[in-house]
Amino acid sequence: MKIQRIEAIAVSLPLSQPIKRSKGVLTTADNVLVRIEADGVVGWGEAGSAPTMTGEFTASMVAAVNHLAPFLNGADITDIAQLSRLMDGNLYGNSGAKAAIDMAAHDAFGKLLGKPVYQLFGEKRRNRISALRMIASGNADADAAEAKRCKADGFVAYKIKVGAGPVKHDIQRTRAVCAALGNDVLVSADANQNWTVGQALEYVRAVAATSLNFLEQPVMAGDLEGMAEIAAATRIPIGCDEGVHTLADIRRHHAGQAASGVSLKAIKLGGLRTMYDASRLCDELGMQVNLACKIAESGIATAAVLHLAAAVPSLAWGVSLTSQYLAEDVLACPLIINDGHAQVPDGLGLGIEVDEARVRRFAVS
Ligand SMILES: [Mg+2]
Repeated sequence: MKIQRIEAIAVSLPLSQPIKRSKGVLTTADNVLVRIEADGVVGWGEAGSAPTMTGEFTASMVAAVNHLAPFLNGADITDIAQLSRLMDGNLYGNSGAKAAIDMAAHDAFGKLLGKPVYQLFGEKRRNRISALRMIASGNADADAAEAKRCKADGFVAYKIKVGAGPVKHDIQRTRAVCAALGNDVLVSADANQNWTVGQALEYVRAVAATSLNFLEQPVMAGDLEGMAEIAAATRIPIGCDEGVHTLADIRRHHAGQAASGVSLKAIKLGGLRTMYDASRLCDELGMQVNLACKIAESGIATAAVLHLAAAVPSLAWGVSLTSQYLAEDVLACPLIINDGHAQVPDGLGLGIEVDEARVRRFAVS
């Protein structure tokens, strides 16, 4: 079952509403799709542009996929470990581009084998996955109103984006959102490395009495001592995201008491198998797991995360399903989030049908 063709397609997908982040306002999702042909089947993968997370842009990912394609053409798609070795042996880094290829290979392999992707990892432990809803208007009243609306719609997990404005505003926003949501849902905040240790300490002390369940990546990825200092100063669990690109990074955070939970993304870890292995390591170490797409990947990467969510050993910190933020998806039948939850697709491979006409419509050169 040999790979015959690998194609990288850069797309720009419109968001349903602008997303305010610490690094600016997003209005489109700039992603690379990978289309693999093998033995008469087509597999799809995806990676979002993530300059502050993987150092990659759509243009660099397209170049990386085009660089790797000649080494992978003719390779056996059923040997995904060998595909990883070929990728790592011929290109350092570029984990997002490699993740898109790996995802497409899993999709094609599942189709050839006649199995959904989750079965390539193990048993199906979950079927209905709660979707973590992002709260990012940047204004306390609007955030609280949005949180209430989402709770009425059935969402049971939330992430407040902080770190974009003054810490005092984020404290007000967090208090307002936690008060609006109550104690019966999961509420997290994510600073995306944007604070100093001092700012993070000010924040965790001020929100100590709220129902906040964890704070993600308050300081720069490499500042494990800073992370540990914050973790030691608060009962609010601290999670790492930008700081984790390998299983060794997870061990380092654990050993340094720098985090008690990890956000796992395919673009950081370079693929679905490594993401699954990372989830098992977290389980062994007693670290909490969040599974996430990059904001905002389409139904392709979202389906991949749903398959992993079905299979990973534990999943206490929610799943970020980002296709919900797109005005239009590339799937013929977009994944549906109903009552704040999504079903794990049961079809072969990723269990999705990509609408190639839409892909071409959103393609950018
Ligand atoms: Mg994060």
